[in-house]
Amino acid sequence: MQLSTPPLRSAWIEIDLGRLKRNYELINQDKPKHLRLLSIVKDEAYGHGAEAVAKVALKCGADFLGVSDLDEALALRERGVNAPILLLYERQESELPWCVHHNLTCCVGDLNIARKLAGLAAAAGKRVPIHLKVNTGMNRYGIAWNDAGPLMEEIKSQSSLHLEGVISHFSMSDETDKSFAMLQLERFNRVLDELKARNISVRLRHLCNSGGFLDLPQAHFDMARVGILQYGIFPSQVCRRIAGIEPVMSVKVRVGTIQQLKPGDKVGYGMRYEATSNRRVAVLPIGYGDGFPRVRNMGSVLLHGRRAPIIGSIAMDALMVDITDIPAVNVGDEAVVMGRQGADEISVHEVAKWKGSVSYDILVSWKFRLPRIYLPAEGINETFSLRLG
Ligand SMILES: *Cc1c(COP(=O)(O)O)cnc(C)c1O
Repeated sequence: MQLSTPPLRSAWIEIDLGRLKRNYELINQDKPKHLRLLSIVKDEAYGHGAEAVAKVALKCGADFLGVSDLDEALALRERGVNAPILLLYERQESELPWCVHHNLTCCVGDLNIARKLAGLAAAAGKRVPIHLKVNTGMNRYGIAWNDAGPLMEEIKSQSSLHLEGVISHFSMSDETDKSFAMLQLERFNRVLDELKARNISVRLRHLCNSGGFLDLPQAHFDMARVGILQYGIFPSQVCRRIAGIEPVMSVKVRVGTIQQLKPGDKVGYGMRYEATSNRRVAVLPIGYGDGFPRVRNMGSVLLHGRRAPIIGSIAMDALMVDITDIPAVNVGDEAVVMGRQGADEISVHEVAKWKGSVSYDILVSWKFRLPRIYLPAEGINETFSLRLG
């Protein structure tokens, strides 16, 4: 027998590129015309796969991509992405030659880095765009908002640097209390005033993440950096909604085996569940080794459009659900671990609650041992695959 490609495992993640495209259409309709979009594709696009998301986002009108690490940017360049890529956060000196060579746009919040970058750009005969990174209160990265003058002067004096952008980041933009966000906005405006006073004009001023984009139109400026919203997830329960936005990612698994329990039978490691009556149990080959939160006797999955409660402890590669009330379930049936099935949905926010964490954490926690299956979007003909170690 000739063997070619081995079959995919019976647990997988579906990435619906049609939904990603529709989310972009809805965001485009919602946003002011002048506002540009930067698609945040760090951490493999929050687990969706950076190449596919980047290419669809650019097709749908995003102008810029944003990543955290040099590696992430180089991987995109290698896969033929030539669009502007902004490296959020600080660079190590040793990374700068790579940034210049591959036309990656750096955030700069440090005099020494500005000088080093200028020297490398001049040596390469280039004038490289940079974004001035300003700390307006997050106290993570960037130059302090009230101490940016010398850095502005340095950038202005370097003919191999072009100050294309100014960036800052909100600590809290998606909750009801916007008072700190307003203070950050005020500080950001002071920085812009200072640039103007020095006769430095900047094309791309940007402060908003998804929460800011939704709730703080007065902070839109020239570009919004959308991360979680493009993936169809609202950053909080209280932020503004855009109707029709839907999650791009679903997690699915096929029933591996079915067990019949008698009263007194136990289930799984630690014997954390004991049957008190005859129960029918489906075993699903997905576990905390795939990124499922390590909960016990908590949560549920969807089978035949209905909720089957999780019983016992989650194992590395398996979890068990009670299907006594869903008699139609058979081995091989598709269960939805996160996403929609029939009229019901297990949302990323619900899974986050089980874990005591946030939706962002759940999205990026799914391991790459779960193959990503891409459902195509109309008008996007490229096919993608992602099956990393
Ligand atoms: C991750 C990130 C974003 C995107 O945030 P979302 O809440 O997912 O929209 C925007 N800007 C910076 C600097 C980030 O690190």
